[in-house]
Amino acid sequence: MPTRAEKLRRANRAMRREVQAFNVRVDAEVREQLTNLDGGVSCTKGCAGCCRQLTVTTSAEAQNIVESYPNLVRQHLPAFEAQDKALEAIAAAQGLPPELTNETRTALSNEWWLQGHSCAFLANGLCTIYAQRPIACRTYFVRSDPALCHDPEVGRAVDVVQPRALLTGFAHLLQVGARHGDASVAALPTAILHAWKRH
Ligand code: SF4
Repeated sequence: MPTRAEKLRRANRAMRREVQAFNVRVDAEVREQLTNLDGGVSCTKGCAGCCRQLTVTTSAEAQNIVESYPNLVRQHLPAFEAQDKALEAIAAAQGLPPELTNETRTALSNEWWLQGHSCAFLANGLCTIYAQRPIACRTYFVRSDPALCHDPEVGRAVDVVQPRALLTGFAHLLQVGARHGDASVAALPTAILHAWKRH
């Protein structure tokens, strides 16, 4: 009879396999859609303006990241804890519940960006978990001036390309999580800390 810990490990491994297979499909769909896009996008390697915005992810994706990069996640745990507390403080200052919901998301995201946070996985302008970055990152592209993604004083990107994959991807990833006992959506730092506890 497998122990509870062994069952969790198996569920996490299965979740990882499913998310990674899904990421391959998403990338293929995004490639096809961007190839057929008039005028292309202005995103370039090393730009990373979007990595300074609040990233939202599903529990299944966070588990995949933790299982795929355990040493990197361990190394950044203090940063994720600090960012999780910063989010709580932003919510408290605005009288909002700390959970990320459709109602709280815009207010939390705006203040997060204005405070100048950046993703703990970003190093020297590059994503250190690029192959397994969340769907919110792998489907975010803009056609507007990259400066709009970088500088809160200038404003947010105005011409965001939203690949079809994003529209159905969150629902699919929540189903993956549900099959393995953990289906939720949270800000990336919160989701990573949650997944680390299951690891
Ligand atoms: S996971 Fe990677 S791509 Fe996504 S915000 Fe973080 S550094 Fe950027």
